[in-house]
Amino acid sequence: MTTFHRPFSAHHPRALSNSPDNSAPSLNHVPISEYFGELTFGMSQMREKLPKEAYQNLIKALEQGKKLNRETADSIAAVIKEWAVQKGATHFCHWFQPMTGLTAEKHDAFISIQHTYHSEITVLERFSGSQLIQGEPDASSFPSGGMRSTFEARGYTAWDPSSPIFIVEGLRGHTLCIPSVFFGYHGEALDNKTPLLRSAQVLSKEASEFLKALGDVDVKSVHSTLGAEQEYFLIDRELARLRPDLILTGRTLLGAPSTRGQQLEDHYFGSIPSRVKLFMEDLEHEAYRLGIPVKTRHNEVAPSQFELAPIFEAANIAADHNALLMETLKRVAFRHGMVCLTHEKPFAGINGSGKHCNWSISNDKGENLLEPGTTPHQNLRFLAMIAVVMRAVHRHSDVLRASIASAGNDHRLGANEAPPAIISIFLGELLSNIFTDIQKGVAGQATESQIINLGVSHIPDISKDYTDRNRTSPFAFTGNKFEFRAVGASANVSVPLAILNAAVSESFRDATQDLKNLLTKKSGSRDEAVMELIRNYAQETETIRFEGNNYSVEWQKEAKKRGLPVLATTPEAVMVLNRPEATEFLVKTQVLSRSEIQSRFHIAVERYNKTIHIELMTLLDMVQGFVIPAMESQLRDSLDLVNRLATTEGQKAQSKRVSEIEKTYTHILETLQKLGGLLEEGKGLSSEERLMDLLATKALPLSAHLRTACDSAESLLGDKYWPIPKYREMLFSNALS
Ligand code: ADP
Ligand code: MG
Repeated sequence: MTTFHRPFSAHHPRALSNSPDNSAPSLNHVPISEYFGELTFGMSQMREKLPKEAYQNLIKALEQGKKLNRETADSIAAVIKEWAVQKGATHFCHWFQPMTGLTAEKHDAFISIQHTYHSEITVLERFSGSQLIQGEPDASSFPSGGMRSTFEARGYTAWDPSSPIFIVEGLRGHTLCIPSVFFGYHGEALDNKTPLLRSAQVLSKEASEFLKALGDVDVKSVHSTLGAEQEYFLIDRELARLRPDLILTGRTLLGAPSTRGQQLEDHYFGSIPSRVKLFMEDLEHEAYRLGIPVKTRHNEVAPSQFELAPIFEAANIAADHNALLMETLKRVAFRHGMVCLTHEKPFAGINGSGKHCNWSISNDKGENLLEPGTTPHQNLRFLAMIAVVMRAVHRHSDVLRASIASAGNDHRLGANEAPPAIISIFLGELLSNIFTDIQKGVAGQATESQIINLGVSHIPDISKDYTDRNRTSPFAFTGNKFEFRAVGASANVSVPLAILNAAVSESFRDATQDLKNLLTKKSGSRDEAVMELIRNYAQETETIRFEGNNYSVEWQKEAKKRGLPVLATTPEAVMVLNRPEATEFLVKTQVLSRSEIQSRFHIAVERYNKTIHIELMTLLDMVQGFVIPAMESQLRDSLDLVNRLATTEGQKAQSKRVSEIEKTYTHILETLQKLGGLLEEGKGLSSEERLMDLLATKALPLSAHLRTACDSAESLLGDKYWPIPKYREMLFSNALS
């Protein structure tokens, strides 16, 4: 590695990455509507370009979940190939989401060689129906959590026609990407998309049944919608590349706070730095061409932190789009001389990044079922939907907590900027009061009949009432949708969504039965029975509703008293997956099988251990490679100076400074050794669960001590001795533009 000069010093060869990388890209100034989705091939293109019969077969296959026949597949493949090759694609791949949390792809060229009679060869572009529908990557190098032994290394990818195919551009040729699921020989899910698709199916079935019981007899299907607000940091590429921690772990493992952080509260919604604005324009241009409907962009709270929010879409498509957007963010940032960090807490002491998942459910007419309507029936339906969702979250808050658990998110949750690790629901004053009244029956028939007959005075105002929101809640109702805020910025959203959908599906199934029972037991009207159901569920879910400040210490105590799961860290949260009774609903709804849950538990434990282990080893490396030698140089020079100083006062003062540095130096050396010892101890442990415990309860606290000592060292040493970029440089260099 080349010697690092402080970027703002005159010696620095290249203070900040500059042109040509971040010279203005040549943007075409045509309306977005004219090029939106030009790199995608979805259902509307299928309808337009496919022979009528093939298109009808595809629709049938989609609606009935059946396999496509060979001729249809071939005819679809031919149309897609023609489109892709004409666009400049040379390769195709099945694009899937293994349990690494990232996406994966293996490219194959379209070319095929035909041997002719006189051993001449002809090169052609070929793409068959079977290549479109199924791929067979070697699955042995993907996490399976012990579900598949190496001798059964086969894994299959299969096209998910509900998500549009897209092209990723290259310099000399583009790649056609086919959104796919990934599964093992016995059909076991090896990815994050399959559970989401399964959850969509069961949600549609159970919600439709309930709606029918409610009187919506013509409902055909129901689907969940998602709008995922993505937060991220942008750091100068030249600075990031000098930090092994950023390169290897996505976050800074040490670094003293900058004198200026986010105290001035001037970054949120502030004017976007020109360099970042160029990046955003370029990014959005790519996103639009890929058919991703990004809508909102702004500065976030922390310096160099930003947010991007799309218009919501059907959950499966939105989840794919979020995964694709995260890749695009990184690629475009690099092109602009920056690095995009999606880690939940890349910098200590300043805000981290989340991904608020705005979630709702719609029927096949496109009506948002979490929106109060204009008729009494719609309003009653609205309250019933809220009650069903509350019951789902109440019953399965522990598994929902587990679904968003990661080593990275542990730093963010509860850090006074993000919701705590305790799942509760915020409804807002008006709705909360309605449920309390219904529950207690205090307002009695008056409120009830108002709601049943015509709740115009109450319910339609709800969406207007949501200006004052509770930003501290992990699961908040925001007018016409729930916002699951505990999800981390780097997460693949398919997992938490699948769990939420499964919980809600179970709740719909129970609600249908409960409503039917109430109807047979009671002689009153259906509306009265629905009201009774809402009352019962309001009663049952009382403990999960919380309107107060989720950050407060009192809430931690109160939540415990209420019996809510308080799972502060990933090791505590993932253990939930190991309790069959906690995850039974996933099996019952067929979103995950028993063995799939078991494998996901193992993967979660292993992933945590590996992440922490890499972080600790990187920290040890950095302390040994950077911090200690820097301290030694400073100590040597300072000691040398003591003898050269003329006055005894000067010598005394300098000796004091030296001894302070020396104390920190000794402390660092000792802690380093202890941490090394703990890691050795970890090697001898008999199970991953024991290792997880050691890392979480002993190694992490010790590494925090080590970090604190290194951060003091950074402040004690002369600037020229400190060999890696500092917080102030990383966080504020973009602000100069
Ligand atoms: P606000 O900024 O007031 O929270 P927005 O309407 O801007 O609300 O929504 C924030 C996010 O929520 C956006 O990504 C948006 O598309 C999404 N969203 C809005 N309505 C729904 C819905 N019915 N289902 C899912 N997401 C939604
Ligand atoms: Mg935000």
